[in-house]
Amino acid sequence: MGNSKKDLKPKVKKVPLKGMMDNVMEQFNSAANHINLHPNIRKILSITNNEILVNFPVKMDNGDVEVFTGYRVQHNGALGPYKGGLRYHATVDLDAARALAMWMTWKTSLAGLPYGGAKGGIKIDPALYSESELERITRRFTYALADNIGPEHDIPAPDVNTNSQTMAWIADTYMSSRPPAQRSANQHVVTGKPDGSGGLEGRDRATGFGVYLTIKFWADNNDMDLNGKKFIVQGFGNVGYWASHFLEKDGAKLVGVQDAQGGIENQDGLNVEALFKYNHENKGTIINYPDCSPVEKSEFFAIDCDICIPAALGNQITKKNASKIKAKLIAEGANGPTNVEGENILLERGIVIIPDILCNSGGVIGSYYEWLQNRSGEIWHLEEVLDKLRKKLKVSFDKVHDYSESEGVDMRTAAFCIAIKRIEKAYIQRGIFP
Ligand code: GLU
Repeated sequence: MGNSKKDLKPKVKKVPLKGMMDNVMEQFNSAANHINLHPNIRKILSITNNEILVNFPVKMDNGDVEVFTGYRVQHNGALGPYKGGLRYHATVDLDAARALAMWMTWKTSLAGLPYGGAKGGIKIDPALYSESELERITRRFTYALADNIGPEHDIPAPDVNTNSQTMAWIADTYMSSRPPAQRSANQHVVTGKPDGSGGLEGRDRATGFGVYLTIKFWADNNDMDLNGKKFIVQGFGNVGYWASHFLEKDGAKLVGVQDAQGGIENQDGLNVEALFKYNHENKGTIINYPDCSPVEKSEFFAIDCDICIPAALGNQITKKNASKIKAKLIAEGANGPTNVEGENILLERGIVIIPDILCNSGGVIGSYYEWLQNRSGEIWHLEEVLDKLRKKLKVSFDKVHDYSESEGVDMRTAAFCIAIKRIEKAYIQRGIFP
């Protein structure tokens, strides 16, 4: 690889923290320093491979045409096809997609999957569009992305505000644009499809189940019984709901929930299924749920509890609220929910963080199973899927735990070090073309 590790000391430019990109770069550089990452590989991994931006027109229900901006950022493909979600949210831009794509590279590497990392989406608030407008937006976005995605090249999946229906539209559009004899062979262009049209049984709960499992593994290692433990969840979407569902089954008590509209608290416990039903019947919000008190946005993380699960957006735990957190354990269901300044405060206070790239990796592991299932024409059943997921996550969790103990580093640094080393090895073995 040219320069030896000794010749070149990594140069790390300290920049003030701004967005998610600064956050992921600081996490990356700190792990890269720890493993003394080869400087050439540090250069490669510090930047994204490809950034696709598409502007595309869509006819609205009233006949007007609106032009949307969509993104797909492919960070690194050293380990296999690019993999990662598409989100529909007002915060989607190039910077966010870059950061989220990088996290996917570390996540798939840590999980031992044959994938690289990507992320993308459209800058929209889907609540402002009808179902048929969302279908046309999704199909036209897929058409605009064209061969920048593909089942052996870049495989999108659900993320914030996208779901199995979104994936079904993408799969159908992509497959319809292939010659007839190739259509079925392209079903795995996306994962997270509905059961019955190429989806995997259990993919819906895979991320939340994984969040629960990592909490359970940590609790077992620390002789902690989940029964009676109190937890709070930020975001009651797919990840927040399923994590709560499995924790409640183990006797833990959901005492606070926050969504984009507001927060609620009940120290006696909120019934997860009843809250899910309420959320569904009230246009996707939990506010005004009976028998609980409202919680100010700034006070949510200060709720009395043992476990805190941020399962919404990035940059939620910062220096503004990290000192107020009562939980002993943070399980990152979201991507990048804790920024570096917030994390430093938490670590100083002895609060443990199960990092996103481990904690929420059940989702992409489930996606991998769906992709394998489509490729081999098999159909796997729920119990089999959850069992495989449990075993695979346990391997990742133990690796991170052991590395963190043996190297005396926090779990995030440990997870990043393991992930980056695997990619470094692939580059060293292959060299750089030409
Ligand atoms: N959007 C999920 C994530 O952030 C899943 C990605 C995938 O399955 O490709 O991990």
